[in-house]
Amino acid sequence: MEIKTIGVLGAGQMGSGIAQIAASKGYKVVLRDIKQEFCDNALTKMRAGMEKRVAAGKATQESVEATMANITTTVDLSGVKDCDMVIEAAPEILDLKRSTFKELGEICRADAILCTNTSSMSVTEIMSECKNPERCAGMHFFFPVMAMKLVEIIRGAKTADATVEAVKAVSAGMGKTAVECKTDTPGFIVNRCLFAFMLEAIHCYEEGVATVADIDTAIKLGLNHPMGPFEMMDLSGLDTFPHVTETLEKLPVTTWKCPEAVQKLVAEGKFGRKSGEGWHKYN
Ligand code: NAD
Repeated sequence: MEIKTIGVLGAGQMGSGIAQIAASKGYKVVLRDIKQEFCDNALTKMRAGMEKRVAAGKATQESVEATMANITTTVDLSGVKDCDMVIEAAPEILDLKRSTFKELGEICRADAILCTNTSSMSVTEIMSECKNPERCAGMHFFFPVMAMKLVEIIRGAKTADATVEAVKAVSAGMGKTAVECKTDTPGFIVNRCLFAFMLEAIHCYEEGVATVADIDTAIKLGLNHPMGPFEMMDLSGLDTFPHVTETLEKLPVTTWKCPEAVQKLVAEGKFGRKSGEGWHKYN
């Protein structure tokens, strides 16, 4: 099935971005929030952002009008019942997401693809009461959606291969690069790796290894990162940090012991670029 219409649940920071990128790439979008004023505010902000780009010569007025014309709004969940795909970007509350997917399972076509943009919760749990869970997956966008190129596709316990392929195709249609997270692991790929890194920076600070400012400088200049870990935590908002770590605590504790996978590569003489092969192959 070719996906042409996309329902987006939630007209907040993420939902409005997802609606805008989809509409700008020609998908018909039905944007749903619980109050009409939330939908209207999202449309006003979207238009204002695009008009600025027109004023700067980076977009045309026609593209703005075409994008806006592709979006309709609703306050009623049944407004998305005929969509080929629904992407949920409502608040990060498990009961709310689970009951939303239960209802979507009842009202949407059996072949409609149903995705959640959760940043930290189990996709399997969110979809646990949804009919035909094989058509459900996580589709994790990054903020700001218009600028960030990545989408993580997360397989729930029952996600079908065809669903992953369909979500990949839509991600490409939106101009994004998709990566597949093969298991419904806490933090998925990006947050799992990012938090391991940020936690270690905090441990260094707490142990008195260096100041916050020096750790940020060390990582920026030593690793060529655009931002230090503490600067990044401040940007994302420290209030979200405990919620994410609560989810990540389900993972086994990491140790500094050399992992077997590395020991095996070393034993095989695969040292990386210098030997022509490591994790990747080099010519
Ligand atoms: P937000 O608070 O900006 O927006 C949420 C919107 O959902 C609000 O407008 C709210 O009125 C609306 N809403 C509430 N109940 C609803 C319902 N039943 N149906 C439809 N809409 C409803 O939140 P956000 O930052 O856009 O986050 C949304 C989701 O995206 C969360 O699951 C979050 O974890 C995830 N996420 C956020 C980020 C980020 O950087 N903000 C990144 C990736 C994923």
